[in-house]
Amino acid sequence: MTQPAVVNGDLIMDGETLDVLDPSTGNLLDRTIRGTFEHIDAAVDAARAATEGWRHTPYARRSQILRRVAELLRRDREQLALLESRDTGKPLTQARADADVASRYFEFYANVMEAYFGHSPPANDDIIAYTRHVPFGVTGHIIPWNYPLQIGCRTLAPAIAVGNCAVVKPAENAPLSVIKIAQLALEAGVPPGVINVVPGLGSEAGAALAGHKGIDHLSFTGSVSVGASVAKAAADNVVPVALELGGKSPNIVFPDADLEQALPVIVKSMIQNAGQTCSAGSRLLVQEDARDAVISGLAQLLADLSIGAGPDDPDLGPLISAKQRDHVTHMVARAVDAGFTQVVGPGNVTVPDKGFFFPPTLLDDVDPAAEIACQEAFGPVVAATTFSTVDDAISLANGTDYGLIAAVWTKNLDTAHLLAEEVHAGQVYLNTYGAGGGVEHAFGGVKKSGYGREKGVEALDAFSQTKSVVLKITR
Ligand code: NAP
Ligand code: MG
Repeated sequence: MTQPAVVNGDLIMDGETLDVLDPSTGNLLDRTIRGTFEHIDAAVDAARAATEGWRHTPYARRSQILRRVAELLRRDREQLALLESRDTGKPLTQARADADVASRYFEFYANVMEAYFGHSPPANDDIIAYTRHVPFGVTGHIIPWNYPLQIGCRTLAPAIAVGNCAVVKPAENAPLSVIKIAQLALEAGVPPGVINVVPGLGSEAGAALAGHKGIDHLSFTGSVSVGASVAKAAADNVVPVALELGGKSPNIVFPDADLEQALPVIVKSMIQNAGQTCSAGSRLLVQEDARDAVISGLAQLLADLSIGAGPDDPDLGPLISAKQRDHVTHMVARAVDAGFTQVVGPGNVTVPDKGFFFPPTLLDDVDPAAEIACQEAFGPVVAATTFSTVDDAISLANGTDYGLIAAVWTKNLDTAHLLAEEVHAGQVYLNTYGAGGGVEHAFGGVKKSGYGREKGVEALDAFSQTKSVVLKITR
């Protein structure tokens, strides 16, 4: 069966289709409709028509409905996890965690939304003033293929919690779970038109949504170049945009770190979702006295990883597509040609022939100005560079165009907090690494990692506008 668009509660099947491939074999997994401008237009109209009813639905009722979505996501956890694992290639355990987080987003915003709406700023005694948070109206959501279930719910739950109605364009490469979320939301009692999903190509359905005059807010997660073009299209309609554009996030390791604790977390930060994570730990900055222990410890852990199809629940699954595998392959080859040391990687580790697999790869002695140290590979690849002083660590950490997250591994509180202060990033982790999770913690980048904040109570700010109401008392 072809997976539909979900528009105004109806399943739309008309028109051309797109193939959805299984990344562990390259074979056909499913099909979706190929969303057109007309589909997007119908979805925006449906969302617009739903806004008045939805925004005036009592908060307590809206909160109940969001909680019900969370319950259904939990009820269908296994089914959703398997769907996500097949579609994206990610190991089943990681897909289960994504399903749990997806449910948690709806539960979290169901809880916090009831206490959110408005406050009273101080004023003179002849003035009564209050601030309301009002929804934008129709929100557009352009979702990438790496965490569709999580990112879909990360943006949808707060958007509808504050009373917006949404039109979602999932990625061509992994659209299935987002289509399912829209159907579950209907079952949970979210009124038709509040969540609409139109699968399709970025250049067609995506561009139609980004430039649509009927949307009031746009959130985009994906690459820098597409993010910038989407923001330009939205700017023509004076539509505000939140951009989440990835990063080159460092693990910064000092010799006093507890390596037994640190190394498995560092490995996970680089191989989770095969490294196709905006907040992946794709750079490793190691103080020179810790270098030998860190590099040899990581090499051992990487060599022991199991590799296979997502539903078989290995440590490391395939990349999303042949295009992505070729991109990573060429980037690593250029790094090796440039003379950096491949400690583990292609040639040392065997991966299945079929499908889009790439071996876990550790490159050492990497020039911090090199492409592999500055650009996203978006694969299970880490580039290691050595530093001597705390100041060196800070300037290396800040030495790319990105600033999404960073992790500092040390027992020294001064060092930890100095780096937390000085490293330019939206999130800094001390002796842990928080890729993906953390529904409660505001998330988003600085510099080329984008702007706007998602997650946490801050997402409710991001998906609403304040309105100040001021009354002068005439005596
Ligand atoms: P991308 O092209 O930026 O895709 C992100 C989303 O934007 C997808 O839904 C895509 O649709 C859509 N899109 C593409 N062109 C569009 C357009 N002209 N107008 C509106 N929407 C458009 O990312 P990608 O090509 O899949 O991946 C390339 C690189 O982006 C990766 O290697 C990685 O560095 C980065 N990336 C970052 C994140 C992140 O979490 N920050 C996620 C994914 C990728 P289709 O996919 O259907 O074409
Ligand atoms: Mg897929």
